[in-house]
Order: sequence, then C-alpha cells, then structure tokens
Amino acid sequence: MPIAQLLAGLVLSAAIGWLAYRRNSLSRSGVAGAVITGTLIFGFGGWTWGLVLIAFFVSSTLLSHWRSSDKAGLAEKFAKGERRDLGQTLANGGFGALLAVAAFLLVDLPGEVRLGNPTYAFLALAYFGAMATVNADTWATELGVLASHAPRLITNGRRVTVGTSGGITTAGTLAALAGAAFIGICAFLFIQAAAVATTGNLLLSDLPLIGVAAVAGLAGSLVDSVLGATVQGIYWCAACQKETERRIHTCGAATEPLRGWGWLNNDLVNFVSSVAGGLLAAGLGLVILL
Ligand SMILES: [Zn+2]
Repeated sequence: MPIAQLLAGLVLSAAIGWLAYRRNSLSRSGVAGAVITGTLIFGFGGWTWGLVLIAFFVSSTLLSHWRSSDKAGLAEKFAKGERRDLGQTLANGGFGALLAVAAFLLVDLPGEVRLGNPTYAFLALAYFGAMATVNADTWATELGVLASHAPRLITNGRRVTVGTSGGITTAGTLAALAGAAFIGICAFLFIQAAAVATTGNLLLSDLPLIGVAAVAGLAGSLVDSVLGATVQGIYWCAACQKETERRIHTCGAATEPLRGWGWLNNDLVNFVSSVAGGLLAAGLGLVILL
C-alpha cells in the first residue's frame, strides 16, 4: 500500500477542495467527493494521474467563473452559480478512481517498468480518455452556452433552448474538442516529466496520446449528448412551464416525469460517457501506441 503517496493525495485534494469550497465551486458534499477521488487517483495512480485530475479541475473551475454573470441569465444550470456536489464529483472522477485502484492491484511494478506494461498502458489510456471526456463536457457546457446560435438536438437537429440536455452547438463542440485535447497535452507533458525523472529520457513515442485523448474525449462528450437527448430522465416543472433535469426544480416546486428513464440522472449520464470515452481511448491507444 503506497501510504505516503495516499497521504500526499489526501493533503493535496483536501487543500484544493477547501479552496474550491471557499470560491463557491464545490458544495460540502462536493468537497467530500473531491477528496475521495483525489486521494485514490493521486495515491494509486501517482503524480501523472493526479496532475491530470488537477488540470481538469482547475481549468473547468476557471471556465465556470469566466463570464459567469453573462451565463446566469442563459440557463437554469448557471442561475445560482453552480457548486458541484458529491454526485457530480463522483460522476467526473469516479471511473478514474476505479482505474487507479485497478492499476495498483493489477500492476505492482516500479515506475520505469510500468511505462512499457500493456495492462498499465490500457488502464492509463482509459484514465486519460475518461478525464478528456469529462473535461470536454465541462468546457462545452461552459463555453457553448455563450454561443450566439440556439443549440440543435444531437439526434434530430431540432432547435432547442440553451441548456436543454442533448442540445449541441458548433462552438460547444469545438470547445469539447479543445477540452479533450487539453487533457491529452497535459498527460503527454506530465508523462515526459515522469519519464525524465525515472529513466533520464523523454518518451516522445507517446505523442499520439494527444490525438487519442482528443478523439476519445470528443466522442465521449457526444455520447453524453446522445444519452441526454434520448434516455436521460427529464422532468417538467408545471409552475415554470419548463423542462428540467431536476426532480425538485430550482424554483422549489416538485416536477413530473416528462421523458427518459427516471433513474438515469445527469450524474449517471456523465459517468457512463466517461466510461465510454475511457474505453475508446484505451482501444484506440493500444492499436496506435503498442
Ligand atoms: Zn419551476
């Protein structure tokens, strides 16, 4: 058990969680979720994985604060200045935490050997793909909402109002691609640092990782949109005459089921799409990189 690494993860994620709580980016339960996922990913995945998690968290938090007053009037999601809760933090980092634990259990090898181990490569690629997906999704939501055109539903192209589940814009899709590529670039740079630290050499043969993360993250975020447009549970607030993802609307009224599966909420959709993006990255990466 990597006790020192786990403790370092606990301290670091608690510090970041506390800062995010102070800045109103996380709720109390969101801090718990960030500490659980951060400790497991740092502790079992190591520095490269932990730094990628921080790259996701810091970039998406900064983007959500950027032009927040412009966003507030656009969609209910932004109305109260979103504070991520336990469900959201586990949806974003939960699959990554499971992969980190799997890497510890299945690949009990020192750092320099791990780099060439196929099982480790599969798990690491899945992790980077999962983080690319949740980062793509967050960047698309935060930047796409500012697009001047109304979104279209990904399934049938029908124009929908801003904030509708499954609605996409060109700007949001480009933001998703950029968010996914950003994780790929960060992962590549952190791997180079780790490779130099352990072997003294760069690992430039990992360069295709950037493209793999970009493609898998974009695809994962499109899976998120398709699920949002089709089977995600969507509710109707009779008081506001509005569609919502919430059982209790932001106005306080209880909502009625409108379409989709009631149990499949937004957090589960995010989790499932992170698994899809992760598995795609692992599959693509093993074909290209090994
Ligand atoms: Zn309402």
